[in-house]
Amino acid sequence: MLLSATFAFVVALTPAPSLLLPAQPVGAPIDCNGAVFKSQIYSNDVECQEISRNRLTIQDQTITLRVLRDDAEDAQLPPAYEAAALEAITKSFEIVAKQRKLNFHNVSILPRDVYNQRREAKMSGVTYWRGKAECVISLEVVPASRFTPEANLLMFKFIVAHEAFHCVQSWNWSHQLALDSANWWKEGSADLIAMLAYPGIDSQMKVNMGYADIANAKAVTQMDYGNVLFFHWLWAQSPQKVFDLIAAMPRDPANDTIEAQEAALKAYLPQDATAQYATAYSGGKIYR
Ligand SMILES: [Zn+2]
Repeated sequence: MLLSATFAFVVALTPAPSLLLPAQPVGAPIDCNGAVFKSQIYSNDVECQEISRNRLTIQDQTITLRVLRDDAEDAQLPPAYEAAALEAITKSFEIVAKQRKLNFHNVSILPRDVYNQRREAKMSGVTYWRGKAECVISLEVVPASRFTPEANLLMFKFIVAHEAFHCVQSWNWSHQLALDSANWWKEGSADLIAMLAYPGIDSQMKVNMGYADIANAKAVTQMDYGNVLFFHWLWAQSPQKVFDLIAAMPRDPANDTIEAQEAALKAYLPQDATAQYATAYSGGKIYR
């Protein structure tokens, strides 16, 4: 569940929707120097400090968004990126919470050190999750010198909004998410939510890239980020269809094949979906 982007996003910001009250607190964040946290991020080499803690009320749940710092990695977010991360997570959660009653939990943001690698334009996120428990989003941030600071920040927000939807996937469809063969919908639906959170010229370019892939006769189960187009089409029919599709995907680790994914997709979608999709996206292909 890695997303790297190498181009900039220009978006129009929309005001945050109002939050619903009252709410039940979800639970205390876990000790980020403890064994549970270390095993979750597959690293014992953590000297964790909490930089900030914010509460977010979403539907009837009050969750904690933490920003952490790992002294062992000497990593922290550049100025302005902390607020940007919190905004992107909030937007991502609110887009889906507006459509369906879902489970939410705490989120921790853990920056990774990439400065010593002298990399240019490295922005990526990895989400570590344990089912219905705290979600850890690890981020690497090196702004690209060829882009404006604003464009870099927007690209960062897109990545965080994408990772935040992986958290939602883990809290609500953890069995489906655990399968390797689920990559096609994991990444396609996460890019959809990020695109809805930060629509703009360059995210439209991503759509067109996905379109080009599909026009080249790839089935959706054979792609990952390119499926933003397919999920955009599904969301336009009804956002409920995106959630229902994910819920209908295979849950059994013994059934972790692309064939099983495609069979579940065929069982879920109406028979005329192939024709409808091909009409909507001139030749777009769903199945192999
Ligand atoms: Zn991803």
